[in-house]
Amino acid sequence: MKSMCTVWFVLALAVFAGARPATAQNVLDQKISANISDWVATYKHLHEHPELSTEEKETSALIARTLRKLGYDVTDHLGQYEDPGLTGYGVVAVLKNGPGPTVWVRTDMDALPVKENTSLPYASHVTAKRSAGEVGVMHACGHDLHMTVFLGTAQMLAESKSQWSGTVVLLGQPAEETVGGAAALLRAGLFTKFPKPDYMLALHDNAWLPAGVVAIREGALLAGSDSVDITIRGYGGHGAAPNATKDPIIIASELVVFLQTIVSREMDPQQPTVVTVGSFHAGTKHNIIPDDAHLQLTVRTMTPEQREKVLAAIKRATNGIAEAAGVPADRAPIIEVAKDSVPATINDVALTRRVHTALDQALGKDNVLEGQPIMASEDFSLYALADPKPATVMFWLGAVDPQKIKDSLEKGTRLPSLHSSEYYPLPEPAIRTGAKAMTSAVEALLKK
Ligand SMILES: [Zn+2]
Ligand SMILES: [Zn+2]
Repeated sequence: MKSMCTVWFVLALAVFAGARPATAQNVLDQKISANISDWVATYKHLHEHPELSTEEKETSALIARTLRKLGYDVTDHLGQYEDPGLTGYGVVAVLKNGPGPTVWVRTDMDALPVKENTSLPYASHVTAKRSAGEVGVMHACGHDLHMTVFLGTAQMLAESKSQWSGTVVLLGQPAEETVGGAAALLRAGLFTKFPKPDYMLALHDNAWLPAGVVAIREGALLAGSDSVDITIRGYGGHGAAPNATKDPIIIASELVVFLQTIVSREMDPQQPTVVTVGSFHAGTKHNIIPDDAHLQLTVRTMTPEQREKVLAAIKRATNGIAEAAGVPADRAPIIEVAKDSVPATINDVALTRRVHTALDQALGKDNVLEGQPIMASEDFSLYALADPKPATVMFWLGAVDPQKIKDSLEKGTRLPSLHSSEYYPLPEPAIRTGAKAMTSAVEALLKK
């Protein structure tokens, strides 16, 4: 029971608050509070029922159904019947509301082949069959959180049409984890069949930031990613007669070591670069020198110039080392840069500043941090490069129980990263903060 003193204090606060006109932010807070338990229920449902990349059948249906109920003009199964290469689970929802710019908000929808290792009452027990056997399926990257925030934002924008003017387009993207979804949707006419974006926004949960905050930064947020396949070709022969061969294992081994000097001796140390040889395969038996050796590399860079420079250096080093070993021109190495590369995710400077201001106003400056870039990659970057080249921003949504972060700092307890079987967000404050942040950012860009 409250003491009289507390009651008076609460009453005085209520009178004080009532003396002020309700701001748009207060109204938004109240609306979010009225819906948050439903949203948390949606989040738990999505978490318990994850679907792998390109298989987002039920997930995309839930997104499409919810957006239709909110009054959006929804197109689902985008591309399914036009190109067998498309995943067919893209959802695009349009809400036209008078003259003004067009703002797109994107969520990803897919989960990962990870067996969940949490004790959550809503933990996933879903499994899927793969060629290597049965795998667990888990929203270990927080795309369930993204979708919940996205649907909450959709509802808030639909209910506040008197506050803004322009067009909102909401995009549910399949297959982010396999980096095929954005490209597939663009091939299906994403920017020609629907209102062209002036601005495009997205958020990603962050496993190192507490729930209740967001973090934003101008420029590079996520690295560009390239996969490179290298085949070193020599001449095989008897392991006891190396002089009669051109040993590709020796050449490839020299190359693996040399590749690290590209990062440490050729690239600007102020700009992060990663070259990792993740796979090295050659030979069949102790006493046979094989004809060739295969390397698989992942390359992470932050700018197109840096990317060009690293890829050129990899080609130069590969050809140079093979030539130095005496490999003739007709057995020169084969170097293939995979087509499914994604560029770095670069936040447009002017748009970032506008969104940053909106986030400051919505959440308070103390809850809007300077974002840190990481060397993971996203295909959200592809939208910024596709015609009409919209200004894009992605920001971090803090997702972790603040107590866990405190324990990690004070006691050194381990914080699971994204993609970990033990990772899970603290839903309620993260959803509340994400929906408020995204709604406020869109409304600021579509201010009357
Ligand atoms: Zn991920
Ligand atoms: Zn993700």
